[in-house]
Amino acid sequence: MPGVIPVFDGHNDAITREGAPDLSRRLPDGHLDLPRMREGGMRGGIFAIFTPSSGAASRQVRFPRGVHAEPLAPPVPCEHAAAHARVAAERLAALEKAGELVLARGIGDVDAAFDGSTPPVAVLHLEGAEAIDPGLESLADWHARGLRSLGPVWSRANAFATGVQFAFPSSPDIGPGLTDRGEALLTACAELGILVDLSHMNEAGFWDVARMDLGRPLVASHSGAHAISAASRNLTDPQIDAIGASDGLVGIVFATAFLRPDFADDPETPIALIAEHARYVADRIGVEHVALGSDFDGATVPAELGGADGLPRLLQALRDAGFNEEELLAVCWRNWRRVLAAWWR
Ligand code: ZN
Repeated sequence: MPGVIPVFDGHNDAITREGAPDLSRRLPDGHLDLPRMREGGMRGGIFAIFTPSSGAASRQVRFPRGVHAEPLAPPVPCEHAAAHARVAAERLAALEKAGELVLARGIGDVDAAFDGSTPPVAVLHLEGAEAIDPGLESLADWHARGLRSLGPVWSRANAFATGVQFAFPSSPDIGPGLTDRGEALLTACAELGILVDLSHMNEAGFWDVARMDLGRPLVASHSGAHAISAASRNLTDPQIDAIGASDGLVGIVFATAFLRPDFADDPETPIALIAEHARYVADRIGVEHVALGSDFDGATVPAELGGADGLPRLLQALRDAGFNEEELLAVCWRNWRRVLAAWWR
């Protein structure tokens, strides 16, 4: 009888999902809320704050099968993003005040959530750094507010870097790399103890970060293997190798378009395909560099999984793909714990 495996998930969009529903209740739709987390054994996760580009009604895009190339999303002004992000961060703070979750400020908060004796732990993450002014004056304020993880870009350009648009089949090598301000942002994050997430960044930016040699692991919180699904959002083998060499990790995304060899945004995608990406990365660079990064409430995930309450079904798929209990614990919790500790030291 396998023991209970607690899950730390590297990326969800529940806090900025449309309508800002109360996550303390079991919601009739969506992927993630506190009751679903309890049911599925999810005891921690990175909670993203995402500000949509104006004019874009929703980030939920239906991808047709076959060739696909979207333009980059329009840029978002700093003032707008900052105001939007502050409101979202307050939503997370209110859940903490209500005793529903604990906002991670140090690795001890992650450790405390492991055995389920405290509320689950939430890492506050900015998905796209538009809320940070290019002079970085607000970064320390955000750290004080609880920011512990940041993706410099979403799939658009900003003062710091350029993201990959959604394209298939396509290499992630689209557009220019980090700007000087982007380099300054990375350095400041390393100094303050804010993890930098490379999912959504284009390949030029990825290699610029790798070359900076910050002494911190390379982390892609929610991506897949380009060798299986040739989407611009996925990681090429050289990128995966660099992540392994840095002692970093790939949080395997559950978004069906980035899992499937045909890029179809199709809920009838088998859960086993998530395990297949995990297996691929583990076989290539080692199980200690594989983790989970669902993209719950940010993308279509396999219907067979459902939401956070369905995580035990994913654990079974990982077992079926050959991961033993010790390896599952690494994939589901310990690997995230290691890279968070390395950035927060
Ligand atoms: Zn994302």
